[in-house]
Amino acid sequence: MRLSLVPGVCGLAVLLTAPVTAQHPLPARSFEPSLPAVAPQPAPPVVEWWRNGGPRIRLTDQRLGPALRNGVERSSLLRGLVDRIEASNVFVYAGIDPRMIKGLAGRLVFVGSAGTHRYLRVMLHPELGGDQMIATLAHELQHVVEVIEHPEVDSESALTTLYERIGQSNRAGGLQGWETNAALDMGYEVRRELNIGTAAALARREAAKREARN
Ligand SMILES: [Zn+2]
Repeated sequence: MRLSLVPGVCGLAVLLTAPVTAQHPLPARSFEPSLPAVAPQPAPPVVEWWRNGGPRIRLTDQRLGPALRNGVERSSLLRGLVDRIEASNVFVYAGIDPRMIKGLAGRLVFVGSAGTHRYLRVMLHPELGGDQMIATLAHELQHVVEVIEHPEVDSESALTTLYERIGQSNRAGGLQGWETNAALDMGYEVRRELNIGTAAALARREAAKREARN
């Protein structure tokens, strides 16, 4: 939420319309505590998303902030996922699991539900590199969208039932789990978008260098 730093218009208007006789010259030196010249600003209006529970994607590890920002700037698919989740009633706590076993890049856990709100946790492997982390996050957020599309999922067992139906069983990292083609495709496609964007940026840089030499 952005807060305005512009002084309150009401307070300014009061100062401008104050009668001249009410003005007192300041003493040359004063030890009076300084008081604000402008009346306190009224609280800014609360925006809709805040009234409705706040942002849906909440990062629990600061390493994910740059990855998400960078990914949203470079991948329209990831932007679409984020928009979809922010418009939903599913809250996602996304972080990094330092104890995640080898062979797993990420995982999704059902945390709980309260009324129409549902809560999930997405955990990523700590050794994922820059674009790999973005693509894995997109993969896991596609799983979040799968939960959004199935409002009947309101517990860990209901999540398992959903993936038994729409996913394929696997034993990544030696653990029983499930995977979907949609999430696999999302990870690949986001990675492709990132690669194309990187290649285009390099080509533009080379073209600019050639231009500068000529
Ligand atoms: Zn998956």
